[in-house]
Amino acid sequence: MAFSEKDLAKFEELLLKKRKELLDEMGLHGERFTSTVRDATGDLSSYSYHMADQGTDNMDRELAFMFASKSGRLVYHIDMALKRIKDGTFGQCQGCGKQISKARLTAVPHARLCIECKSAEEEKKAGR
Ligand SMILES: [Zn+2]
Repeated sequence: MAFSEKDLAKFEELLLKKRKELLDEMGLHGERFTSTVRDATGDLSSYSYHMADQGTDNMDRELAFMFASKSGRLVYHIDMALKRIKDGTFGQCQGCGKQISKARLTAVPHARLCIECKSAEEEKKAGR
């Protein structure tokens, strides 16, 4: 693994701090959210699919609420990053599988993509 336990602890701290700021900003108290998101699957596509499919479920309402705001989506990405710390896949680019640089992760600890994949993604978006 590319990051030491100490590095991971530092990233986790950054993520938790950011998460708390966001939840405070949204006027939410973290506890319920924590259990909801932690129990859910880490796969974003099945997540959205599930949401669309069973919109009446209580948990889905919370998720829909979360996804309705930019801060909420960021909380979700932070939770996924925290999950990756536990999984041991933190810092791995989800586009090309390469290691994301420590500098980038320090700036954006919830980053899913390395700089190259990120700019490729943004170019694709801009070109649409
Ligand atoms: Zn990449």
